[in-house]
Amino acid sequence: MEPQYDVIVIGAGVTGLTAAYRLEQAGRSVLVLEARDRVGGRLSTETHDGVAFEVGGQWVSPDQDALIGLLDELGLGTYPRHRDGASLYVPRDGGPRRFEGPDIPVSPGTAAAMAHVTELLDDLAHRMDPERPWEMPGAAELDRTTFAAWLEANCADEEARDNIGLYIGPAMLTKPVHQISALQAVLMAASAGTFSNLVDADFILDRRVVGGLQSVPLALAERLGDRVRLGADVTGITWSEDGAVVVVDGAALTTSNVVVAVPPTHVQRVRFTPSLPPLHTQARMHQSFGFVLKVQARYAAPFWRDGGLSGTGFAPYELVHEIYDNTLDGDAGGTLVGFVSDVHADELAVLDTDERRSRVLASLAVYFGDEALEPVSYVESQWHTEALTGGAYGTSFGPGGITRFMPTLKQSVGPLHFGSSDVAGLGFQHVDGAVRVGTQIAGRLIP
Ligand SMILES: Cc1cc2nc3c(=O)[nH]c(=O)nc-3n(C[C@H](O)[C@H](O)[C@H](O)COP(=O)(O)OP(=O)(O)OC[C@H]3O[C@@H](n4cnc5c(N)ncnc54)[C@H](O)[C@@H]3O)c2cc1C
Repeated sequence: MEPQYDVIVIGAGVTGLTAAYRLEQAGRSVLVLEARDRVGGRLSTETHDGVAFEVGGQWVSPDQDALIGLLDELGLGTYPRHRDGASLYVPRDGGPRRFEGPDIPVSPGTAAAMAHVTELLDDLAHRMDPERPWEMPGAAELDRTTFAAWLEANCADEEARDNIGLYIGPAMLTKPVHQISALQAVLMAASAGTFSNLVDADFILDRRVVGGLQSVPLALAERLGDRVRLGADVTGITWSEDGAVVVVDGAALTTSNVVVAVPPTHVQRVRFTPSLPPLHTQARMHQSFGFVLKVQARYAAPFWRDGGLSGTGFAPYELVHEIYDNTLDGDAGGTLVGFVSDVHADELAVLDTDERRSRVLASLAVYFGDEALEPVSYVESQWHTEALTGGAYGTSFGPGGITRFMPTLKQSVGPLHFGSSDVAGLGFQHVDGAVRVGTQIAGRLIP
């Protein structure tokens, strides 16, 4: 019997929708099944007190040409993040220090140590093809070394280690540096071109999308029309070399191919018959979400700008380790966005809503003074409470995982093709990576 579809795509995040859109453009019959009642996955805009807040991904950087190309194609505009004025750095002891430009105000010795480690990481990143990180020279050794141990071995200055560690651990992979390998750290750097790119906030957090980054999945879904079905939680897939039967809401849909565009952690929510090859199951059990709370406080006005501050702040020793001006284009008010990551997020997660809010605002006040204690709106992202995500920003391996499992994660199994931004090379853990992975999978299915 003829299958009903050429391709069924599971998951209407950017990966799944990009794959579906390209396949549909190439004349394939496609159906996208999304468990939530909305498209976009980890991209979502919520309205609080009449103002839009992007609670998931939001920034675009100039190296992300796959995403930038898609924005152009979809006719979506961008605007720069506000960054005029001085930034703040809060050392372990003492209050905030103002600085201009990219270099945080530390002692000459710490600055030299940071420059040295930056050079080492840039060099390693240049030697890695982020699509095949397990193949770089010395990959096995780097993968069995924690990033914490690698930093200890390469940098005698504690404050330099804390800052370099912050950029990749808490700030990017949202895990402590002792839970990730040095190879995973190099992959994070290589996925953005270089480590220097990654730590340059003006580069990596360059622009925002008019209407929010969620406009990308919304625009793709609009073009796909009734080929996207919401509230469709796929629970089972029966497959053979000839095709698959996808079970959703008790109905069985037949297809030649399936694109499983869900995070690796969520592939196991689907019951496969026959089960996936053993390494495929193992690989996905070893990849886990990091944990970060994105917190946003909106004030009657961007009061920090009056004092000549940009709203940017960093502090490896603070509860909120990084902060930016997140004011919407044209908003008369002013919004700060901050992040509370890994063990600090554990600390907050056990508190009630009011206690969390007080702790976060007290941390913002360390940077910007008591005015930060009185926002008109306060918004926390809660991705860890969502069954269909489970953490933020994305997933990564512990030590040894990349060399042991990553090649498997990129393989198809018969008619089943897996992908999300979590398995991207360039754009790893970013929307750019989701666009790339979706495009690559579609390319494999369009002869
Ligand atoms: C707080 C936060 C901040 C971030 N900041 C940035 C940023 O500034 N810039 C950036 O580029 N990236 C950022 N990211 C990362 C970015 O959002 C993700 O990399 C990207 O959105 C992932 O897209 P995806 O399609 O691969 O996966 P997802 O968005 O996770 O999509 C997977 C979809 O599959 C669905 N699904 C799961 N299981 C099933 C099932 N069984 N049946 C049907 N559907 C299913 C889910 O509901 C979901 O819609 C951020 C992420 C978070 C959470």
